[in-house]
Amino acid sequence: MMTGISMVDLKGQYNRIKDEIDGRMQEVVGTAAFIKGPQVKLFEDHLSRYLGVNHVIGCGNGTDALQIALMALGLKPGDEVITADFTFIATVEVIALLGLKPVLVDVDPDTYTIDIEKLEKAITRRTKAIIPVHLFGQCADMEPILLLAQKHHLFVIEDSAQATGATYTFADGTVKHAGTMGHIGTTSFFPSKNLGCYGDGGALFTNDDAIADKIRMVANHGMRVRYHHEMIGVNSRLDTLQAAVLDVKLKYLDNYNRARQSAAEYYDSAFEGVPGLMIPFRADNSSHIFHQYTVVLDEDVDRSALMNYLQQKGIPSMIYYPIPLHRQEALGDARGNDVDFPVTEMLCNRVLSLPMHTELTEEQLGYISNSVVEFLANR
Ligand SMILES: *Cc1c(COP(=O)(O)O)cnc(C)c1O
Repeated sequence: MMTGISMVDLKGQYNRIKDEIDGRMQEVVGTAAFIKGPQVKLFEDHLSRYLGVNHVIGCGNGTDALQIALMALGLKPGDEVITADFTFIATVEVIALLGLKPVLVDVDPDTYTIDIEKLEKAITRRTKAIIPVHLFGQCADMEPILLLAQKHHLFVIEDSAQATGATYTFADGTVKHAGTMGHIGTTSFFPSKNLGCYGDGGALFTNDDAIADKIRMVANHGMRVRYHHEMIGVNSRLDTLQAAVLDVKLKYLDNYNRARQSAAEYYDSAFEGVPGLMIPFRADNSSHIFHQYTVVLDEDVDRSALMNYLQQKGIPSMIYYPIPLHRQEALGDARGNDVDFPVTEMLCNRVLSLPMHTELTEEQLGYISNSVVEFLANR
């Protein structure tokens, strides 16, 4: 049995850039600029240049980023917000938390991102916003989403928590980064994300000066001028230590994403022609930066048995996500009918995510993929 294989390897990644990270963190501690230190602005500027977006505004985490986005757009209780049924709870949680009405839509069987036809059908007079999720590192099909939004006067908030660094190509050849195409983009710097810090962190992106101004106000207790509160806001900041870490890691982001892509290519070729599973689909108009490497098992493959088999060989695997949002108790009335979500239902029953991070060795990749192939051949 091979030991030391993990879903993510943050320690190995840290060890390669230890001196640089330690130095930058020491600088923050040495100056005690823990809140709103200069490193926050520096990182925001560097990230906005990298993404090609006018404003990057740091905040406490990716969930806060989504909540702040909805608050900054001035949505009112009862307004409908459409998002995908197959995503992490945070996306829909904030909609419900603000008294808005989440409207869940099934996903595309190839990209696992929001289904465009079903999205169009879900739009009503009360719809105010769409939150496409760039799931597992690949962009939702933004061009038709933006056209629909324009036609129906809707806001678009991109949940880019799993796709920092991914790009989308429009029909006219224009290439844009995930999170910079809609009115607002949000991301998370949770340690395991493609651009992760050493704790919690998040950010919002926008090209619109007025929206940026509103975002800054919402995130800072609803004030522009200290102690003059214009609206009820929240307290959500990217702390200086995390910004210092992120400013170092941003330089390596493209390399990190390339390492993930090489690992994915290794898996792809090892699984080529192997009956029993489907490898991740690569859309023509989006890069895939493999936040997760997620296969879809054939209906007759016993997923739990495969997971146990891998576990015995020292290989972790995970199910993202085991339960569709429309069946989550917390969502109450927003829950739909299983009939409307056949693709999400299918995915929840059959997806499996394999170890995916920047430090995987060929030896580990060979061992993992051989073990999967072995199980499928001998079942
Ligand atoms: C991680 C994640 C979030 C939430 O980010 P946190 O920083 O953990 O709050 C939101 N949406 C998606 C799709 C995510 O993967």
